[in-house]
Amino acid sequence: MIVILLGAPGSGKGTQAAMIAETYGIPHISTGDIFRKNIKDGTELGRKAREYIDKGLLVPDEVTNGIVADRIAGKDCAEGFVLDGYPRTIDQALMLGSLLEKTGRRADIAIDIIVGDDDVIHRLSGRSMCKCGETYHVDYKKPRVEGICDKCGGELYVRDDDKPETVVRRLREYHEKTGPIIEYYRKSGILAGIDGTPRPAEVSKSIVEVLGAHGFVTGGE
Ligand SMILES: [Zn+2]
Repeated sequence: MIVILLGAPGSGKGTQAAMIAETYGIPHISTGDIFRKNIKDGTELGRKAREYIDKGLLVPDEVTNGIVADRIAGKDCAEGFVLDGYPRTIDQALMLGSLLEKTGRRADIAIDIIVGDDDVIHRLSGRSMCKCGETYHVDYKKPRVEGICDKCGGELYVRDDDKPETVVRRLREYHEKTGPIIEYYRKSGILAGIDGTPRPAEVSKSIVEVLGAHGFVTGGE
């Protein structure tokens, strides 16, 4: 099964993509994670991506398309995968369609996790991270000691793209570029909208129900 997850930054789509991957035993492909890893490792790709991400801009299509094409050609993607953070532009959506077509495949479902802008701004601008990978939030997941990681004692920091002015810019870009994608998948008949406002566990339940209605059962096939 090939699942595309759509949703604004901060909609919780990363969490839900990970849930789908685990529940159905397919790889979780996050372009954001791939970029962050390359940035951390100081690769050429990382340097290119960083210029855009730090400004809250989307990484250009030619960079992103190449990465996704490589990744979904992997053997572990033969039974399907869940895409998180891609496609983000209509050109990427068309590119993905033709990539899949080449191997006789198509996306089964595009899930749009819907959260209002005010909610997104609140969720993202309260977020902090640790080098060890833990994430915290001023309302939802406070560390025991302010500014210090519970797990490793490291100092917490706010990611550049979670700073309020960057969040607003990311949202504006998101709506501009993603609006046409949502329309495209709606016309293709594979769009499913999910309310992303409730707790993550509730959202997960709704997603599993929608996937079940499409004939996808949990526990691996
Ligand atoms: Zn830590």
